[in-house]
Amino acid sequence: MIDIGFKLVEAERLASATIEEFGICSPEHIRIRDIAFAKGAMVVEEKLTRAAASIVKAGNRATIRIPPTDTMERRRFSIAHELGHLVMGHVVSIKKVCSNADMMDWYQSSQETQANFFASELILPAKLVSSRCDIGNISFEPIKKIAKDFRASLTATAIKFVRLCPEKCAIIYSTQGKIKWFYKSPDWWPFIHKDKKLDKRTLAYDFFVGQPMDPDPVEVDADSWVESRGLDEIVEHSIASTQYGFVLSLLWIKPR
Ligand SMILES: [Zn+2]
Repeated sequence: MIDIGFKLVEAERLASATIEEFGICSPEHIRIRDIAFAKGAMVVEEKLTRAAASIVKAGNRATIRIPPTDTMERRRFSIAHELGHLVMGHVVSIKKVCSNADMMDWYQSSQETQANFFASELILPAKLVSSRCDIGNISFEPIKKIAKDFRASLTATAIKFVRLCPEKCAIIYSTQGKIKWFYKSPDWWPFIHKDKKLDKRTLAYDFFVGQPMDPDPVEVDADSWVESRGLDEIVEHSIASTQYGFVLSLLWIKPR
């Protein structure tokens, strides 16, 4: 087990215990609403103002609220995230409200990060996903297939892939031409600067200047992404969301 912090490991452990408890052994068995209901939380879809999702608790009963306009993948993740708060005892006052930023907090040890690790393990259990992440040629292709089978977003699946893949890889999320956040595999070593402006030599840069982005993995100069320290090249595969205006870049240090 790699060191991702005790609380995050505990969050994953609680989610995998839930997977065991429900006897889940294939992706279609992961019925998030049923699991939430069995854990005492009813899911209600309604328009939310200034929140991505929320949970209200009264005694042994809880209500999770999610917006009906979100994608199915997003709604599944939000329910699992809120259920994580409930299971981990985070809902101490009556109500907990979570923002879009909370759902993307993967790098701290906050309750939001814990809820995200819980959700990731509930939707993409390591016992079902691991073997599909142990591959030699790193690209978005296997990630897309896993995301489809597990009804998970590409972002959540890419994070899980990087977490479980034995190769040195990282996933970088960019908006407005800058690195917004990243998640890296445990033995990834080159330093990545958050909030760094994208270098012109990266594929992701092209998207933000309105140019067509290369759809395939390409070897680019390592120092266009990271503090390279002797590393010459890095494989970049980038995918853009024109709807939400972000680019996900999968970086891979190819073994020589
Ligand atoms: Zn939350």
